[in-house]
Amino acid sequence: MASIAQVEPLTSSRALRGPFDYALPEDLRASVRVGSLLRVPFGRQELLGVVVGLAEGSAIDSGRLRSPRGAVDADLPADLVELAEWIAREYCSTLARALSLVLPAGAARGTREQRRLVAELTAAGREALAGTQRLTATQRGVLELLATGPLAATALPADHAALRRLQARGLLDLAAHARRRAPQHTELGARGKTPQLNREQALAVESIAQASDSSRLLFGVTGSGKTEVYLRATAAVLERGLGAIVLVPEIGLTPQTVTRFVERFGDTVAVLHSGLSAGERHDEWRRLRRGQARICVGPRSAVFAPIERLGLIVIDEEHDSSYKHEGDPRYDARDVAARRAQLTGAQLLAGSATPRPESYRRMVSIRLRERADGSPLPGVEVLDMRGARGPLHSATAAALGDLRRAGGKGIILLNRRGWSNFLSCHHCGKVWGCPECDVALVLHQAEQAISCHHCGHREEVPARCDACGSSTVARHGLGTERLEHELARALGDDGFPIFRLDADVAVLKGRAAQVLARFDDAPAGLLIGTQMVAKGHDFEGITLGVVLDADATLRFPDFRAEERTFALIAQLAGRTGRGHTSGRVLVQTQAPDARAISYAARHDSEGFLDGELERRAALRYPPYGELIRVVCSSEVEALALRAAEELRARIDVPDAEILGPAPLFRLRGRERAQLLVKAHDRQPAVAAVGEAVARPLHRDVAISVDVDPQ
Ligand code: ADP
Ligand code: ZN
Ligand code: ZN
Repeated sequence: MASIAQVEPLTSSRALRGPFDYALPEDLRASVRVGSLLRVPFGRQELLGVVVGLAEGSAIDSGRLRSPRGAVDADLPADLVELAEWIAREYCSTLARALSLVLPAGAARGTREQRRLVAELTAAGREALAGTQRLTATQRGVLELLATGPLAATALPADHAALRRLQARGLLDLAAHARRRAPQHTELGARGKTPQLNREQALAVESIAQASDSSRLLFGVTGSGKTEVYLRATAAVLERGLGAIVLVPEIGLTPQTVTRFVERFGDTVAVLHSGLSAGERHDEWRRLRRGQARICVGPRSAVFAPIERLGLIVIDEEHDSSYKHEGDPRYDARDVAARRAQLTGAQLLAGSATPRPESYRRMVSIRLRERADGSPLPGVEVLDMRGARGPLHSATAAALGDLRRAGGKGIILLNRRGWSNFLSCHHCGKVWGCPECDVALVLHQAEQAISCHHCGHREEVPARCDACGSSTVARHGLGTERLEHELARALGDDGFPIFRLDADVAVLKGRAAQVLARFDDAPAGLLIGTQMVAKGHDFEGITLGVVLDADATLRFPDFRAEERTFALIAQLAGRTGRGHTSGRVLVQTQAPDARAISYAARHDSEGFLDGELERRAALRYPPYGELIRVVCSSEVEALALRAAEELRARIDVPDAEILGPAPLFRLRGRERAQLLVKAHDRQPAVAAVGEAVARPLHRDVAISVDVDPQ
């Protein structure tokens, strides 16, 4: 039996890298495995650590080896330890940080099972109620309540001592039960009975079953019933005694998918996401770890669900940018899912109506070309806004008026939250900017504040210019808050409610799902919002979709700008015209001839993707090349720049191009400089960058590495 545990202590410090050897005392040897959690002495502190290896001996003198203080009652499946090792390497991070991602929530804080006292009536208790024994009114009340079934002690009208006296007389049993803290979901989009698959779906399910150990892209138009295919693929895996992970974009925005899985599979579904309380998350994690739940539905972090014998990982809406994690390690759940599938022999099934060019190129596609309900995709009209005054095209205004008269439902997408984009002084031209970041502050009327969308800085709305004293402060541009206000004034009433959904609304837990449910229930009305309104929602009876300022995303200096714009328009069109209503989509833009917009208007995903791949091949962008972004930041501009130059000199990759250092705008009070490594192969480039950043640099410079930035 191994006497040495190789332990990686969980610390966020980049400088401290294990694993470190610890001598296992006799009583721990039998139970400690790779994946066990130990409390270990480290210097003068005690840290939580994960066992990443076991050995018979150590290079360190046995007299100097220390022993763990104890084991924690939670452990990781060994394959997740291996996955964490891969993540640490792949994203140029540390093993400790990668392990913290895959650990059970609350493990570090010691979240425990919650136990509660449950009372149950005994046979003697039942007789007592019926007959002769003397009972006080309180005692009788308690027993009568229990006659309907067991109840928590706290739900009974008697104190603890009184219950213990009844127990002593044999009239009831008291026992501690583990209590499951079950998460609540907003019910939305339940479908009742299982539909009969249409021909395309049946073919898809069949070909997925035949390809059971490789990856597939379910490339199906919006409304083609991809969820039903995921459900069938999951059922097939369960039947083989295996488990499944179903990844969805932000959970608050995809309550329908959760509902459909829970409805179909019941308690064997666990839901893991950051909106749960620590206790709920702990309990869901335990249910998965013990095999009581075998399906996990959740956002990107659910890719770490502790399911042993994994058969399938589904990635719904695989184009969604929320799959990329913005902390350190900056992992991409889609790549992690692919890796985990490979490690465990599970199948990978990614689905989208607007797949990423990378997935379209790398994976075998299964096509669904028709909507499940047989309805056609909506007609899309591109409205030229060059030279237009005001935010709405006359055709849009007319269509909204018609919608209201007809009592229909519509969705308007404007990818900019707040009231207006920026404030400026009419007199001297001052623009109100963030003191910490080089960006303009955005007006939020309801909060009476101007705020920074990057760091959260807030100020009161200025009544006059603090530079010149003028009281003429102009508001520029239009955000969702103002659009909601203006449309509510022009069109809204009890019969035609106007709803808004954006990050300001969604900060409140559960609010997004509520707004979606209320809009779904309303017979008529408008839903206005940012890209959140274009997620995979399945609403019936939407006859009008509108995209305002469709080229806003195109103006981003990013090679994925076209792909994003295309997806946004196609996805909004995808919400329209479902369920026996014909639909119409209006796209307002300053760039009516842009490729992304005209292909989206024709619903030509393949045409768009083929052209996009050609363009990327010419520029050697993914999937024809690899990008790694390294950002150095410091409070001092010169330091950030110098550090980036030094790193540039250190990074030694053959066959790679290093662009920069280029200055980035100041963020959260830090000046930034960026390097972009453009390489042919990912592995050598990642290794070279990883090595370069592992060596210390100036201590006032922070470095962040983004492999395959999105
Ligand atoms: P997608 O994710 O492909 O955009 P959904 O999975 O949301 O589409 O399905 C669209 C709608 O079609 C849903 O309301 C779903 O219940 C319904 N649906 C799916 N498959 C069938 C089928 N075989 N017959 C009838 N309706 C179906
Ligand atoms: Zn001024
Ligand atoms: Zn800021």
